[in-house]
Amino acid sequence: MQSKLKEANLNVIILDKKPIRDYDEIITCLTDEGIKKIFAPGVRKATSKNRNALSLMSYVSLEVITSKKLLLRLKRAELIDIFDPRWNMIYFQQTFTHFAYKLIDTNCKNIIDQYSILIKEMNQNKDTKILIYLLLEMLVSLGLNPRLDSCVECKNNKVIDFNFHKGGFLCKEHTEHNFPKEDLLAIYTLSKSFAEFEEKCSFKFANFFLKLIIQYMSEVI
Ligand SMILES: [Zn+2]
Repeated sequence: MQSKLKEANLNVIILDKKPIRDYDEIITCLTDEGIKKIFAPGVRKATSKNRNALSLMSYVSLEVITSKKLLLRLKRAELIDIFDPRWNMIYFQQTFTHFAYKLIDTNCKNIIDQYSILIKEMNQNKDTKILIYLLLEMLVSLGLNPRLDSCVECKNNKVIDFNFHKGGFLCKEHTEHNFPKEDLLAIYTLSKSFAEFEEKCSFKFANFFLKLIIQYMSEVI
């Protein structure tokens, strides 16, 4: 007996494409349910209507055929927003993809939702901050996000330090280190919205904080 086929619509971020056979591809993408591989028949033919929708890091709507036994199979792809792969976005792409690959069987709806908004703000001199915001959403998906409103140990909101490994903000009773006040405020705005974070975070601190979050993620996931 054949396994039952169903159709589904997925909004995804395209992360990788591997050619197979003469004209086909296996696409790896981030979906609401984590990383998925999709068989895309015929997309390397010059006449394929789907091929132009499948550029890396783009935000795309896919119509797929699902079955219990087989790989998801692409029926139709529609580009929603394209990722502009200029040279200064290579690091962005590599870092996002590297960590996204770890999101297997994980609820990633928050990441996809934020990506669909922030892709429109890329290449406007705030890409480091966008990357931080998206990496933090990955930590939320994994349940590893830091506490961003008060001291991790005692919930005191007079915080003076931030430490990923300790779980977030710390008050003077629970740390011997000090973070500059304006940087603590920038971290706090991460719990509010991207727009507030973008406004309050300096370029210098964004570069520093990106290194911190990448180092933390490399160690824990
Ligand atoms: Zn405390």
